[in-house]
Amino acid sequence: MKLDLAIINGIVYVDGNFREVDIGIKDEKFAVICEKGLLPEAEKTIDATGKYVIPGGIDTHVHFRDPGHTDRGTFYTESQAAVAGGTTTILEHPISSPPQYNKEILDNRKKVAKERQGVVDYAFYAAAGGQYPEEITKVAKEGIVAFKTFLHEAPEGRDDEFIGLTMANDYEVYIGMKEVAKTGLLLASHAENNDLIQGFIDHYRKEGKVTPEYHCLSRPPISEYSTVQKMLLFAKETGCRLELVHISTPEAMEMAKQAKLEGQEVFLETCPHYLLLTEEELLKHGPFAKCNPPLRSQETVDKIWDYVIDGTVDFIGSDHGPFLIEEKENGNKDIFVAPAGFIGIDLRLPLMLNEVAKGKRGLTLEKVVELCSTNPAKIFDIYPKKGTIQPGSDGDLVIFDMNDKFTVDRNKNYSGSKEIARVYDGKELHCKLNYTILRGKVVMEDGLVDPEKDGTKGWGELVLRNEK
Ligand SMILES: [Zn+2]
Repeated sequence: MKLDLAIINGIVYVDGNFREVDIGIKDEKFAVICEKGLLPEAEKTIDATGKYVIPGGIDTHVHFRDPGHTDRGTFYTESQAAVAGGTTTILEHPISSPPQYNKEILDNRKKVAKERQGVVDYAFYAAAGGQYPEEITKVAKEGIVAFKTFLHEAPEGRDDEFIGLTMANDYEVYIGMKEVAKTGLLLASHAENNDLIQGFIDHYRKEGKVTPEYHCLSRPPISEYSTVQKMLLFAKETGCRLELVHISTPEAMEMAKQAKLEGQEVFLETCPHYLLLTEEELLKHGPFAKCNPPLRSQETVDKIWDYVIDGTVDFIGSDHGPFLIEEKENGNKDIFVAPAGFIGIDLRLPLMLNEVAKGKRGLTLEKVVELCSTNPAKIFDIYPKKGTIQPGSDGDLVIFDMNDKFTVDRNKNYSGSKEIARVYDGKELHCKLNYTILRGKVVMEDGLVDPEKDGTKGWGELVLRNEK
């Protein structure tokens, strides 16, 4: 047998530990994992001496606005940003125009994704809303990995992106969760208390308080954990498996932890920005640091790390949110007008590796692999195709060097919305990604993603969850 690709001399994550083994890939899949020096011949060999080799990253939370808002980026541009950052599979949340709440819209998004010829593998969430609950069990049969909902009406001027995606009152939440429970899939919920937030925004606006810090003040921690408490209760009552996305407060994490201990099926996501940035960023970057929920205090940031280390947090998503610079700049005069979110698909893994390099939080490389790859694969039911290095699994890998550095530069970002990438710009990271390999093909080498030259254009494929 001649291998397509061999990775030799690396320190490889296998079965939960790092070991010095060689890896052979054939026909897109891992074929051989063996002691050093024993691989058969290969078409191409990468010498990973002194470097780590881990399963490709799985980003549990990205928004691609394609079709609908291709000016913010397409499946092609954003896929390049993904693999630049060591992500080989993305799970796409449905804020697009329109969101995929039925088979027809989902089929169209699958078609668009294929036509764009991206370089990352992708799976879809479907939208679950109060408007079309009858679609929930039908669209569940289409290989989606989970459902997503919002608990509020569409934000000003963004109606087309939220059709069929919101459970706008408690009755809709109850009915929607009952429907999702029938499918056995996860329901991901944005967890913020809209009544509280609208009240605060109206109050601050009346007083003319519309500078960036009021974004944080209008969404205090209780606006998150009061909703998390409600969603846990409704999920328990309806038997719905719950995914709490981008959780930013220790109070909410503690509630989820207790629910888990009682046996409830609840899964918790946080994002690098809630672990690494504070509300101070709003003063520096204004609308470019606006996200929902907002960045929190240093004290809050320090506390949520405990829940990462103790295993309450199941996975890290980027909440990659492309927007145009003009859209963000609208918030310079009134922070409440700017869209919430920023891009980060390219930095999710590097930022977490950098925390390992700094060594202050007790984070290990093994834990990063669990949070960024293995846990998502298992929880979203695409394991062992994804999220592991073992014979028969897709040949998805990241090779990186913990003894090298790189500096974040937004001008080198591949995203269609690179202009809004401010919060990490110029930051030096104490790790460097050398290669991203998707199903046996090198899609990123030394930071460069060039599908035309590499012949990898269109290599990204749709991933469906395991058949039960
Ligand atoms: Zn999101």
